[in-house]
Amino acid sequence: MPSTSATPAAVDGRVLLKGLTRPQLGAWLQSHLDAPPSAAERLWIGLHRRRAAHFSEIDGLTPALRRRLADAAQIDALTLRELRTASDGASKLLFETASGAIIESVLIPGADRATLCLSSQVGCAMGCRFCLTAKMGLMGDLSAAEIVDQLVLARRHFGARPITGVVFMGMGEPLHNLGAVVPATQILIDPAGLDLSARRVTVSTSGIVPAIDRLGAESPAQLAVSLNATTDEVRDWLMPVNRKWPIAALIAALRRFPVRPRQRILIEYVLLAGVNDAPEDVDRLAALLHDLPCKVNLIAFNQHPGSELRRPTDAAVDLFRDRLRAHRLTVAVRRTRGDEAMAACGQLGKPPRAARGLPLALP
Ligand code: SAH
Ligand code: SF4
Repeated sequence: MPSTSATPAAVDGRVLLKGLTRPQLGAWLQSHLDAPPSAAERLWIGLHRRRAAHFSEIDGLTPALRRRLADAAQIDALTLRELRTASDGASKLLFETASGAIIESVLIPGADRATLCLSSQVGCAMGCRFCLTAKMGLMGDLSAAEIVDQLVLARRHFGARPITGVVFMGMGEPLHNLGAVVPATQILIDPAGLDLSARRVTVSTSGIVPAIDRLGAESPAQLAVSLNATTDEVRDWLMPVNRKWPIAALIAALRRFPVRPRQRILIEYVLLAGVNDAPEDVDRLAALLHDLPCKVNLIAFNQHPGSELRRPTDAAVDLFRDRLRAHRLTVAVRRTRGDEAMAACGQLGKPPRAARGLPLALP
């Protein structure tokens, strides 16, 4: 798998252009191909805004530069292998990386715009007890180019349907791959390119505290945190990351996080029957969050085969929501719809042949 560091990620010696920020692209083009800044601007627009698949589709480049680019660089980092659309309009996109790994994105349609749920790793190392991706273990990090290309290829495919936001809630722990995720977030919001609003780029983490601080310092992205429990005892059991950074350390990091005016941290809370859905959990959650600029997203657990955990009833979810609202918290419930072809954000893990009727969660 291509890595992201000071050396740009490459496949077969060819640089993956969509993993470079705009200044990096300009510098690379000048130092390697002796091309002027104006060519870098045209290339940037061609790659990100026009979503070109070939250098011949990019306007204003000389034939000589096109040839040199074709030798030294590559446009696409991923290949779209399969697309499955559920009855409610959500689509799961399966991409293949250059190293043959399969990763997934989910397009979540809204009334007039869509959000893309991105993967940041192949599998995940964090081992959360409720998560399907955890069962794969970590098979590799995605490069910045592979992260950005999920949006470019989705837009290329869906054309007129505007995708105006991304959430890093697909496969992987994005803060375990910050070297790729930070530049990817910078590339996603570049106004001359993909032009997402920074308010609509959200990175979700299980709670790697030092990386939360780094994200706040280095990335324009919004923060989402998968809290999922209100005591260390339960969170230790559900999410091994809590043994290293317990709830108090995590909440302290959220207080330090630079939240811009009119923005809020998203607190995700997967409801598990009999584990974290008691009235005492409501009170503890309200106490933990009371002076934090946040909104809570309740997600009814999507059960998968072999899991010892259970999904609460809809009535139990509604009761938990209403009790939290009584504490004056902003709360939304992520509703779930069944579809045999799909998997929800945050529980991606099996290639389509193995799809086993996982329910699909929509915000
Ligand atoms: N690794 C990151 C982002 C991917 S997981 C993180 O953990 O935040 C995205 C979300 O899906 C998380 O909030 C996670 O708690 C949730 N999730 C994982 N498995 C789930 C399941 N089986 N049912 C419902 N939500 C799940
Ligand atoms: Fe990884 Fe997130 Fe799943 Fe935990 S919930 S195993 S961090 S993808």
